[in-house]
Amino acid sequence: MNSIALLDKIEAPAQRFADEVAGITYRGYRPVKDEIRLPAKYDGVDLPVNLVANNYCPTDRDVYLLSAGRAGNRHGTWPSLCGRYYEDLLFDFHNYSKTQVTRRGKEKDNSSYDLYASLTRHYRRKIKNIISDLQALKSTHKFINDAKLQEIEPLLRKLGRFETIATCYLLDLTVARAGAPVNLSRQFAYLFPLDLRYEIDSIATDLGLTTAAKPDFIFDRRIIGDIKSGQYKEFWKITLVAYALAYESATGRDMNFGLIYHVSDKRRFNVPDHNKTMILLISNELRLAFAKQRNRKFEIFTDHNDPGLADRQRDCKNCVYFRECEKDR
Ligand code: SF4
Repeated sequence: MNSIALLDKIEAPAQRFADEVAGITYRGYRPVKDEIRLPAKYDGVDLPVNLVANNYCPTDRDVYLLSAGRAGNRHGTWPSLCGRYYEDLLFDFHNYSKTQVTRRGKEKDNSSYDLYASLTRHYRRKIKNIISDLQALKSTHKFINDAKLQEIEPLLRKLGRFETIATCYLLDLTVARAGAPVNLSRQFAYLFPLDLRYEIDSIATDLGLTTAAKPDFIFDRRIIGDIKSGQYKEFWKITLVAYALAYESATGRDMNFGLIYHVSDKRRFNVPDHNKTMILLISNELRLAFAKQRNRKFEIFTDHNDPGLADRQRDCKNCVYFRECEKDR
């Protein structure tokens, strides 16, 4: 996660999108414009961000299952489990590096000279624990096997190493440029202003979202972010829009940018593949696309009509509702 600081500098979204930001009119705070407000006929109904924004099922049958009281029977999948462990590693790394840097902030020589070794030891230990966790799950989760473990471990190592280098580089650069000892603790907060698992509560009902939401992180109070892995999905952008609107509704402050932090592996590279990681503008177009998708889901949810099964081979294989839907085939 700390490497986001570098990405933010490279992409400089505030400058890049300065003109477009001024043109954003569909905000989550009041007065919510009719174009993105939940239609009055659904007043009193709300749905969680993930259900409104995610589009894993092309027919939206997951919404129907929820309305029919059948959404409880979910089961884990390998991609969803991997996503959880990537997140766990990245969050743990950020928290540990924060603790370590805060401690070193009081020392005279506050370069990252020995921090690198300490962070490396820590992420290696963490990965070892993750792999043991997965080994232990093998007996109850049939989709976990040795081949899968050999698949996830190299990427976890690349992520740990990449985060270590990014963190130490930025801290050292600060010290080198200051020419004198600096307060590293303060610098850490300045360089890596991350609020992890940020809780947004008191979302107004006009948006149709349940009153609380939890994006993976907020960077510097101006970029809302989600960690993703696996094949790129266009609807990931809609998830960020939903969080941005919820944030605006709860805080009354603008949220103009979203960040998809995409975790992937390219075997011949010694670094994680962040090719699909992107900072995007939460534009008017995306805000309207969110409203359109939300209204369609509300219709399915309130009508209780089964929208039909998706293509088993193409769409259902990695779906958490696979077993539930199989009952209807
Ligand atoms: S199993 Fe298939 S039809 Fe059922 S919710 Fe998932 S993608 Fe849709």
